[in-house]
Amino acid sequence: HAKALGRDRYCFFEASMNANAQEQMQLVHDLRRALDRHEFVLMYQPKFDAVSLALTGVEALLRWRHPERGLVPPDQFIPIAEKTGLIVPIGEWVLDEACRQMAFWRETMNAEWTVAVNLSAVQFGHADLVEMVGATLSRHHLDASYLMLEVTESTAMRDVDNSMLILDRLTDMGVRISIDDFGTGYSSLLYLKRLPASELKIDRGFVRDLATDAEDAAIITAIVALGRSLHLNIVAEGVETEVQQAFLTRLGCGSLQGYLFGRPMAPEQIAEAALAPSSGSQDDWRPTRGVEVAT
Ligand code: C2E
Ligand code: MG
Ligand code: MG
Ligand code: MG
Repeated sequence: HAKALGRDRYCFFEASMNANAQEQMQLVHDLRRALDRHEFVLMYQPKFDAVSLALTGVEALLRWRHPERGLVPPDQFIPIAEKTGLIVPIGEWVLDEACRQMAFWRETMNAEWTVAVNLSAVQFGHADLVEMVGATLSRHHLDASYLMLEVTESTAMRDVDNSMLILDRLTDMGVRISIDDFGTGYSSLLYLKRLPASELKIDRGFVRDLATDAEDAAIITAIVALGRSLHLNIVAEGVETEVQQAFLTRLGCGSLQGYLFGRPMAPEQIAEAALAPSSGSQDDWRPTRGVEVAT
């Protein structure tokens, strides 16, 4: 009896694994064509100065407009893109598109904010990353100081010597570096001190429960103190409530990003956000609190 049950179970798992494998293969197949078919779009999430509430930067976040599946979030395809190496050409497209958009904002509205692009560990391991970034900036006549590259703490710490080399070359070029998802990796404080970053982004996981979880609040307090003594701008990501905003601002967090201030949005909406008066309520431009709209 047990054996029969076991066999049934085995068959069940095998069948579902096959379905899953097939689904994955289909996804890889679709992903290979997505660039040629212009199915990728960038949404931009604003980042604000905690005190003045002025727009200080926007982060480019990749979306895949799949013909049948609709808007696919990055968590559902970036891991596959990394495994297949497709993240390299996709990442080049993201950088190119974000720089093109930033150059357009510079030209049309004299934008003084930065555009941030997320880099994957796979791109980071690529020898010609620095040249690729330089070539992209020149192609769009964009000054390097308007570009920020976000590297997660785990990526930066994976192969520290290589990371340090690449980050040094990028900062020599004038590009700014932001350490993303900070607090989830394993930073050696010695390396953190040497990392040529200008910004630390506190992982959303610590921000979420800071009002109710004393340990999360303590960790954030420590990160802000550490960052400030290393002269890094501290950004909190995932700010959703006014209680979180007040706590983070009081601590001395430099910038805030999160649904409270704006979801990832189309570039035209960013232009509106930047033009809105920075004083008072931002309700008049705050776009969609519920849904993300792609144009
Ligand atoms: P990330 O870089 O840490 O980006 C922050 C994520 O948190 C984004 O999710 C953003 O939409 C979401 N978020 C922002 N504010 C809030 C909030 O207040 N509450 C909640 N619940 N979420 C918030 P998204 O766009 O789904 O991106 C997920 C991750 O995918 C990113 O995390 C990043 O690691 C990766 N990713 C996105 N675009 C790219 C890209 O162009 N290249 C690479 N390599 N990775 C990317
Ligand atoms: Mg990021
Ligand atoms: Mg993050
Ligand atoms: Mg993340």
